[in-house]
Amino acid sequence: MQRFDSVGGDLVVGTTVRATIISHERWGGSARVLGHETVSASVDAGAIDSLSGRPRALPEEYPPVSEQVDAVVQEISRYHPPVWIRLTMRAADLHEFSSPCGCCGQLTILSPGGDGVTVDVRSSEGPGCASFAAHRSCLAGRLNPRLQRRPRPGQHRGPRPTNALRERERTVLTAAATAGRTPKNARDHLHAHPAIAHG
Ligand SMILES: [Zn+2]
Repeated sequence: MQRFDSVGGDLVVGTTVRATIISHERWGGSARVLGHETVSASVDAGAIDSLSGRPRALPEEYPPVSEQVDAVVQEISRYHPPVWIRLTMRAADLHEFSSPCGCCGQLTILSPGGDGVTVDVRSSEGPGCASFAAHRSCLAGRLNPRLQRRPRPGQHRGPRPTNALRERERTVLTAAATAGRTPKNARDHLHAHPAIAHG
C-alpha cells in the first residue's frame, strides 16, 4: 500500500527550517521548505509577527515573496492527503516553540533541548497519521512498566530472569523520557528524575 503519510516523515515539529515565501494571501502565505520542496507548506498571518502590533500580520508585513527566512515547523498535517507543513515565523516561536501536552494539557517545549516529544499515531488499517505533543515525563509515566518489545529473531525467547525483565522495563521508560536527547542531555535529565532511571 502506498502510504501518503510517510511523506515528510523526516521533519519533526519544533525543528527550525529555512523557508521561501512563494505567495502572499489574505490568510497568510504559501511557502517552500528548503530540502522539502515537494511538500506543500504555509504560514498563517497569525504566525507572522505584526510590526503594527496586530494579532495577525497584514499582507504588507509579511516577508517579501522569494525571500528566504527562518521558520519553525508548527504542524505536519498527515491525517488526510495531501501532507501539509504549517510554519510559524514569530520571533517568540523561533526562540522557543511550545504546544499543549496531549496528556496533561500544559505547554511542553518542542524546540531542541525541550521537555516534549511528538507522538505519531499510525494504523495498519490504512494511511493517515495523527500526531500529538507530550511531555517526556508524562509519556514515560503513562507507559505500562511491563511493556516489552518483541524479541528479534535469534534473541532469547524463553522465560527471562527477573533482573533481565527489569532491564527491559528500564530501557523502554528511558527511551520515552530521553528520545532525541544527546547523551549528555539524557544523563542530566535522568539525574534530575532518578525515578525514571531507577524506578
Ligand atoms: Zn504533560
